[in-house]
Amino acid sequence: MNDNKKAISTDSLLTENRTFPPSSEVKQRALINAEKYKEMYERSVNDSDGFWLEQASTMDWMKEPTVACKYTWDTQNRKIEHTWFEDGQLNISYNCLDRHLEGPLRNKPALVWQGEDDEETRTLTYAELHVEVCKFANVLKAKGIQKGDRVCIYMPMVLELPIAMLACARIGAIHSIVFGGFSADAIADRVNDSDCKLLITANVSLRAGKQIPLKEISDQALSHTPSIEKVLVVKRTDDPCEMLDGRDFWCHEEMEKVNAECPAEPMNAENPLFILYTSGSTGKPKGVVHTTGGYLLHVSLTHKYIFDIHDDDVYWCGADIGWVTGHSYIVYGPLANGSTSVIFEGVPTYPDAGRFWQIIQKYKVTVFYTAPTAIRALLRLGDEWPKKYDLSSLRILGTVGEPINPKAWMWYYKAIGQENCPIVDTWWQTETGGVLITPLPGAHTLKPGSASRPFFGVEPMILRDDYTVCNANEGGKLCIKKPWPGMMRTTWGDHDRFIDTYFSMFIDLYFTGDGCRQDSDGDYWLMGRVDDVVNVSGHRIGTAEVESALVSHDKVAEAAVAPMPHDVKGQALYAFVTLVEGVEEAKPLKKELILHVRKEIGPIAAPDKIQFAPALPKTRSGKIMRRILGKIAEDAIDQIGDTTTLAGPSVVDALVDGRKK
Ligand code: ATP
Ligand code: MG
Repeated sequence: MNDNKKAISTDSLLTENRTFPPSSEVKQRALINAEKYKEMYERSVNDSDGFWLEQASTMDWMKEPTVACKYTWDTQNRKIEHTWFEDGQLNISYNCLDRHLEGPLRNKPALVWQGEDDEETRTLTYAELHVEVCKFANVLKAKGIQKGDRVCIYMPMVLELPIAMLACARIGAIHSIVFGGFSADAIADRVNDSDCKLLITANVSLRAGKQIPLKEISDQALSHTPSIEKVLVVKRTDDPCEMLDGRDFWCHEEMEKVNAECPAEPMNAENPLFILYTSGSTGKPKGVVHTTGGYLLHVSLTHKYIFDIHDDDVYWCGADIGWVTGHSYIVYGPLANGSTSVIFEGVPTYPDAGRFWQIIQKYKVTVFYTAPTAIRALLRLGDEWPKKYDLSSLRILGTVGEPINPKAWMWYYKAIGQENCPIVDTWWQTETGGVLITPLPGAHTLKPGSASRPFFGVEPMILRDDYTVCNANEGGKLCIKKPWPGMMRTTWGDHDRFIDTYFSMFIDLYFTGDGCRQDSDGDYWLMGRVDDVVNVSGHRIGTAEVESALVSHDKVAEAAVAPMPHDVKGQALYAFVTLVEGVEEAKPLKKELILHVRKEIGPIAAPDKIQFAPALPKTRSGKIMRRILGKIAEDAIDQIGDTTTLAGPSVVDALVDGRKK
């Protein structure tokens, strides 16, 4: 390898050779097989307009579009614009509800809600959900909300949350959901960034047996949010909360005052549907704007083909609706496809570590979608939990959010999927709206840790810094060549930030911020964020591979790697390691782990320092915040930066203390 190449690409050190072709059973049922994927993919890139207009005709338009994508990506002149179906008109809530009411879907469960308490459940059929959404939309109108107004939603995982989203979509209001675990400051920042007019919240939310006073937290935010005129409060429990006369209203009381007649507003395909802030793993969250027509088509099509959705599926995405995964794959995608979507209020480990598996058994879930962080947390607690439950209803498993290391993949495959269920490792971002790189269950041979192939219309490129294309197995920067329908349009109120963040690294291309390699079969392997690449003696090492090697050790549950300054090597690897439950944090084990990494991927990737960590700093969406670990490794605690999206700030203190040991 010459020095020039070293400086601009990322070394790929890990080899994973296991392959899992689709079984004949999976293939037989699958909507897309290998030949069909190839044919559709080729058409989607060679005759993009024809392909997408044809796909768009599966949705219900008030005015059919005659154009698919129009775009200009010209970084130098700072003109980055793209539209999809720009002369079309439709309404998303109509597509998710009304159009299902004529036929057999009318009485099919649309949303199945499981409360934290197992006794608390509620199911809404498509017809029932339609009534609730229309009424809620009328409540919004009665409170002065009009097309284009912004509505902030700060709620627990209860049915009123998707109802409120669909009600906004029905009248053309733009929702901005703030995850229900965030602080008053996080609400105020987001409300003020987009001048929301109304806030929807609940008196309390329930989390792992505790109550979180959502209204009280909202009240703290509301003293700094001049744009909010009215507040709607959902009554989650009978616990009282303060209500300001003339500003705050109980939702259930307002719902009684309105009727269920609310025609869906015709929306231009390019009208904004929602604003959502990124998780903040890499810095200050960005207010991502998604629009109507392209987004809906992207999320419904990906949901249908990636999860191979059939009429009798019971689909469960375990994310929170406060993240994009919940927007796209609990609410909009599944409902547009007329699926039954399960919504769970609680957490995976309460009242015990069998909770997820018990819910799968209870509802006979067929498709289950969750994050690697949840899988690793449950793996850590052992096989006895899934063994207690009947998981035979499962057909397909999915993951999203971080690279999944092969050990967690194999555990998910064996202990949960019982070696019968394909795992779809879906790569995407808040910005992308829906999945871009993923296996399709009946079409692709799976490899643990690989996100497989691009979805229809997606043209990934893996580049070196000098704009040249990487060779097979050479890690580089993942870019996308052309717009896809669900792509974000801008960052709210700050188009310059949009251009600077995504279009200045490589001119005229969308830069994802992630490192990636493509193997010689054509499969994509995500290697972590490019900001996290560590340069050890001129070798650029992606964190994901070293972490995966550490986690492949029996005693390791989770690991995160960060750079630390080194006199000779420039940078060295500093590893934070969480052990499997019950394993003692012994010094000799550190040595064993270093040897293990040397053996798995070679001496260059062996960490110089290992610190045992009871827990790792994560965003509220469960992603490891490596930039914080980098500051701890560097001993630059004062430079930690934005931590407002961190889940448990005390974790950082514990790690800082642990560093000294
Ligand atoms: P911010 O942009 O504020 O730092 P974030 O990037 O964590 O936050 P998200 O949009 O929720 O916010 O996360 C998208 C990122 O998650 C991707 O860019 C990628 O790094 C990671 N990711 C998601 N899915 C996968 C996957 N299947 N494999 C590997 N990485 C993934
Ligand atoms: Mg990001």
